Amino acid sequence: MAKYTEPVCRLCRREGQKLFLKGDRCYTNKCAIDRRSYAPGMHGQSRGKKPTEFGIQLREKQKARRIYGVLEKQFRGYFDKAARQKGMTGENLLRILERRLDNVVYRLGFAASRPEARQFVTHGHITVNGKRVDIASYQVKVGEVISIKEKSRELNRVKEMIERLRDRSVPAWLSLDVENVTGTVIQLPSREDVQIPIEEHLIVEKYSR
Ligand code: SF4
Repeated sequence: MAKYTEPVCRLCRREGQKLFLKGDRCYTNKCAIDRRSYAPGMHGQSRGKKPTEFGIQLREKQKARRIYGVLEKQFRGYFDKAARQKGMTGENLLRILERRLDNVVYRLGFAASRPEARQFVTHGHITVNGKRVDIASYQVKVGEVISIKEKSRELNRVKEMIERLRDRSVPAWLSLDVENVTGTVIQLPSREDVQIPIEEHLIVEKYSR
């Protein structure tokens, strides 16, 4: 399975904002973007040229890809699928991204970041309706119940995450049962439920060129 191999803090610095890819570290003063808020590389600190319209659209698309940890080909596939669906393509795209199993595991608080959630899924710690699902891109459906495998709950990192669940609030489209360490998809996410700093119309414009 393809995934990013670049140091993830560079991705935040490239986008000029926190993408919260490192879990707990992102909330401490060790966060790279708090210490060096300029872009990485030789020319990172130079003011550079005013970005073009294309450049702005490209950055927005890259930012969305990086937040959800999706490579270009798969992202393009999501866009094409979103364009075929009824309604606004940009909102459809965000809904597809948000319904990825790794994102749902993160949103439920079973993992501290999307990359960690992805690892939990691919390592077989996550179940959907009681069956193990190890595909991070799996699209959850209304009524499905997501949980952490009983045996995996004995792992120290998983235990730590379970202990934090009491303080966790989840988006309106999900419900969390802390006692049973399960989350349920109660409806599909609306645009308001997707709290990420993305202007999806720029992504639509980028692909519509
Ligand atoms: Fe981004 Fe987190 Fe690294 Fe900060 S610590 S730069 S938010 S990944």
